[in-house]
Amino acid sequence: MTIEMNAADRFSHYRGLCRQMNDFFSRHIAAYCRNCQQVLRRLPDGSEQHKLVSGVFPGCCHRGAGDIFRLEGVDGETRLSAGIIALLRRERNDKMKNLDDFNPVYELKNCHTGERITGEHCRYFGARGCRLGELKGPLCINFICPPIRSDLLKVTGDDEGVLGPEHDFLGIYQLLSVIGAGSIDEVKSSLVYFSRRLETLNCSCEKYISSNSAASLFDVFCIVDDSQELYSTGECAI
Ligand code: SF4
Ligand code: SF4
Repeated sequence: MTIEMNAADRFSHYRGLCRQMNDFFSRHIAAYCRNCQQVLRRLPDGSEQHKLVSGVFPGCCHRGAGDIFRLEGVDGETRLSAGIIALLRRERNDKMKNLDDFNPVYELKNCHTGERITGEHCRYFGARGCRLGELKGPLCINFICPPIRSDLLKVTGDDEGVLGPEHDFLGIYQLLSVIGAGSIDEVKSSLVYFSRRLETLNCSCEKYISSNSAASLFDVFCIVDDSQELYSTGECAI
């Protein structure tokens, strides 16, 4: 007898994946995002360097980002399944009803051109960051910016087999495509494979941190001595 997966089962796996990624991000990536301006100063051309004029610095949490359900470059379904999206929206609505309003507007100055930019945060953003927990969108559990990818490649000895291609960190989009439409066996085996991959990356990060006698990857790669001002501030030089 074939056992079918229903939308609730698929959504439960989606939430489980978000939990796993939240744990990883909170241990190894959150310090980067809390210091986003500093991290973006590592980009070579300086075009992404901004000074915050008012509001809260947005990082990657721009308007609409949490509601993007596209799965880039995957074999199979290229969008999160309709059943998962429906349940995700319902849970998000319930959660947001109990949260305080947050002024989403911020203003930045481009350090390269001096241009002023006004923008809005993702509607799920709050004063202390994302308020969705395990209800984040696919992009939010998949995206890492180039400086973070570069550091993780160093940590893994350039092992792209663990990290995945640039457009699909850890193969998360591919996994979401399977979670949304695959058979029970396909979903189970893909989740087992993913968990091993994440564990490999996590162990590599911990070893790297320990071998550098540091507290975090951010400390290893982004904290430099005072003589190297480049990474020491999020402010514009101009
Ligand atoms: S992923 Fe990179 S660009 Fe995005 S918030 Fe984190 S540090 Fe900033
Ligand atoms: S859902 Fe959360 S993590 Fe994703 S863009 Fe919005 S605030 Fe950021």
